[in-house]
Amino acid sequence: MTATAAAAGVHCLPIPTPFMVGRVNCYLIDDDPLTLLDTGPNSGKALDQLERALAEHGRRIEDLERILISHQHMDHLGLVDILARRSGAEVCTLDLLAPLIEDFTAEAERDDELAEVLMLRHGIPRDVVTALRAVSRSYRGWGGSTPVGRRLHDGETLEFAGRSLEVLHRPGHSPSDTVFWDAERETLLAGDHLIKHISSNPLISRALGGKSGEPGNGRPRALVTYLASLRETREMPARVLLPGHGEPFGDHAALIEERFAMHERRAEKIRGLLTGTPLSAHEVAQALWGNVAVTQAYLTLSEVLGHVDLLLERGEVQEQELGGVVRYEAI
Ligand SMILES: [Zn+2]
Repeated sequence: MTATAAAAGVHCLPIPTPFMVGRVNCYLIDDDPLTLLDTGPNSGKALDQLERALAEHGRRIEDLERILISHQHMDHLGLVDILARRSGAEVCTLDLLAPLIEDFTAEAERDDELAEVLMLRHGIPRDVVTALRAVSRSYRGWGGSTPVGRRLHDGETLEFAGRSLEVLHRPGHSPSDTVFWDAERETLLAGDHLIKHISSNPLISRALGGKSGEPGNGRPRALVTYLASLRETREMPARVLLPGHGEPFGDHAALIEERFAMHERRAEKIRGLLTGTPLSAHEVAQALWGNVAVTQAYLTLSEVLGHVDLLLERGEVQEQELGGVVRYEAI
């Protein structure tokens, strides 16, 4: 499949990141304009590796003419400013993503404010919340900001001399997830929307509008949004998916069915835990993952709340608030 994509002028450039996920896949689309999808994190190591990878295809950073960004996470956009300034490439992102790219630090700070409120409300102790906020700030430097030259709309077609890519908003893993569909080659540049070897965790982030939910309308329901996006992707006649991490793959419909089944099992397990005393989402996370619920408190909280949202939607659990902390119990 890598060979098929390469034959179509799409080259995977795996770039190292300091994150648990390992390398991020950037893609060089060797067409007119010469395009890079995603940049890798803002680090000297990533920049060096990217330059070498481009050189293997006879290209330099200065040759880039267009930069696409798949979503708002640091491993995908950190080098965007350095690359855009050195090459003069036009940065193109989904309209909803543009403000986050243009002021990454301020937007990340607002995300952290939401995270802090959510963590306290769902039972995570204040000292853990304070520590996590400091960790998050210390990571900020892996990100980057740059002016966005062109704002893309959901459903718009991006033209190249030798291909067309349809721009599709598929929020859930993050509110800005964008996939790029080459209908002629039945190939989907999937970003982190769907990855073969890991289930993309729907992290709770501020809604950006559109399909990611309306801002200010309660807590963003990341997993509910993600499952709706997966249902749309399942119907696509894709032959090859090129993901943001790991190997290219096919048979996405079967993979999506597996993911649906996995989320069902997890929701059922959580419902089981809520049949006794009412528990906060953090208490549920501790019951499921022990100490990981502390070191990865926000990730595991997002995971639990995502599934609680499914149960709430079906009327299988109810919510009660006492002293500013929310607890859930099965009905
Ligand atoms: Zn990623």
